[in-house]
Amino acid sequence: MALGPRHLLGLAGLLALLSLGACRDNHTSSEVGAAYWEGVSPLVAINEGPTYHRLEGYDPRWMDLVREGVEMSRSYWGSYGPATVWVLGREEGTEIQPAAWTAFLDEYCAWRSEPTDMTSEDCLEHFGERYVEVTERGESEAYLSEVRDADTRLAELVFINVHNWFFEDDPLPDPILRGVHEYTHVFQQSIGPMPTWMMEGTAVFSEAWLPGLNGRGDPYERLMLSMASAQQIRDSDLTLADIEEIEIASDEAKDKARELAYDAGAWAMVFLVSKSPTQSVAGLRDQFFPLVRELGWEAALNQSSGLPSTQAFYEAFEAFMKQPPQEQRRLLESLKA
Ligand SMILES: [Zn+2]
Repeated sequence: MALGPRHLLGLAGLLALLSLGACRDNHTSSEVGAAYWEGVSPLVAINEGPTYHRLEGYDPRWMDLVREGVEMSRSYWGSYGPATVWVLGREEGTEIQPAAWTAFLDEYCAWRSEPTDMTSEDCLEHFGERYVEVTERGESEAYLSEVRDADTRLAELVFINVHNWFFEDDPLPDPILRGVHEYTHVFQQSIGPMPTWMMEGTAVFSEAWLPGLNGRGDPYERLMLSMASAQQIRDSDLTLADIEEIEIASDEAKDKARELAYDAGAWAMVFLVSKSPTQSVAGLRDQFFPLVRELGWEAALNQSSGLPSTQAFYEAFEAFMKQPPQEQRRLLESLKA
C-alpha cells in the first residue's frame, strides 16, 4: 500500500477504564501483552455479524466500502464478537445536522455504557466531544477497541473520515482494506496474547491476501510493496524482537513501527506459512492460531515453523530478508491458499 500521512493516525485520550485498544491503526498503541489479557476472556465465536451504525449525513458509500471489507474478513476468519461497527465522518462542503449527531451519539452511548459503570452522560461528554472534534477536524482513524467488564467483552470497530483514504487510482478502495484489517483484529481477540508484529503483520497480510482470494487485486504486488517498505529499515539493527510489545518498545522501534510491525510483520507471516507443514495460508486460521490459543504464541511459532526457538525464527527471518527480491517473491508465490 502507499505509505504516507494517511497511515499516520492519531488517537488520544480514550478512557483507560473502558477502552484498551487492541489496535489503534497505525503507528500507535496495540496493547496485546500478557498484562492486557490478565483476567480477560477472549472474544467468542458467534453466528451474528457485527451491527453497523452510520452517522446520518455521511455518505452511505463509505460505510458500504467498510462493510465490504469487514464482511470479506469475517467470512474468512470466522464470526466473533459481539462486535459493532461505527462509521462517521464529514466530507468537505457538507454539513452534519445537530440532530444527526445527537441520534448517533445517543445510540453509541446507550451501547457503550450499558454493560459498564459509565453513565450515558459521561460517555457523551467524553466520546461525544471526541468524535465530533476528530470528525470536524477532518482527521481519519480506524481502530478496534473494546468495552469490557467482569462479564462482558464487546468489540467496537470505529472508522472516522475514511473518505480521506480513498483515491480513484487505488486498485482497491482503501476503506475496504481498513475493514479487512480491523476485522482481522477481531478474530485475533478470540485467540489470546501475541506480539505486535504478529498482530499487525497478519492484518496487513490479510489486506493483500483476502481481496486476492476474492479476485480483487494482486496480493503479490501488494506484499512486494510491503517488502519494499520493510527493506527501508534494513540498515538499522531493528528486528521483530524489538517490536514484540509496542508499548515497551524503544523510541526507534516505535518510530519505525510501520516498516517493522506492519510490513516486516506481514512478511514474517509469509515466512511462517512457508515453514509450516502445509505451506497453506488457511493453516494460519485452522492450525496456527488455534495453536496460539492452546499453547501460547512462542510455542505455536516454534511448532509451526519447525524452528527450535523464537530467536531461531527471528534469525532465519532476518536471513530471508537479506535475500534478493526475486527470491522473496518466489517464496511468496509458493504459498498455497
Ligand atoms: Zn492493526
